[in-house]
Amino acid sequence: MNIALIAHDKKKNDLVQFSTAYQTIFAKHTLFATGTTGARISEATGLPITRFQSGPLGGDQEIGAMIAKNQMDAVFFFRDPLTSQPHEPDVTALVRLCDVYSIPLATNMGTAELLIRGLEEGLMDWRNIVKENGGSNGK
Ligand code: PGA
Repeated sequence: MNIALIAHDKKKNDLVQFSTAYQTIFAKHTLFATGTTGARISEATGLPITRFQSGPLGGDQEIGAMIAKNQMDAVFFFRDPLTSQPHEPDVTALVRLCDVYSIPLATNMGTAELLIRGLEEGLMDWRNIVKENGGSNGK
């Protein structure tokens, strides 16, 4: 599965900790991330990660483009709900695209635990069927 990893600045430590704890699972998948998040995680875990631009410079939109092309299967996006972000429109757009394409999205550690365990147990294998059928946005 193709997995996106993004964390706002005050949540980066949490996502680094999370991806370190679950690195054996993440290692079985293809990872993508926004610039700084990806650098932090690959430094901590050694996992290979395709890095896009930093979020405020367009990284969220690059991940959104993959979703729109049916190339992203799950998103871990640790948002900071207490700090305003200069790229808030991009954040909203990314979350919206996950909803348009029914892409599982974890925006906090609690949901992330469920998503990673579900991924490991094969609960996301339906994505392979969606991809074989060329994708659907439910329209
Ligand atoms: P970053 O981008 O990983 O480059 O910090 C994340 C964000 O703030 O959207």
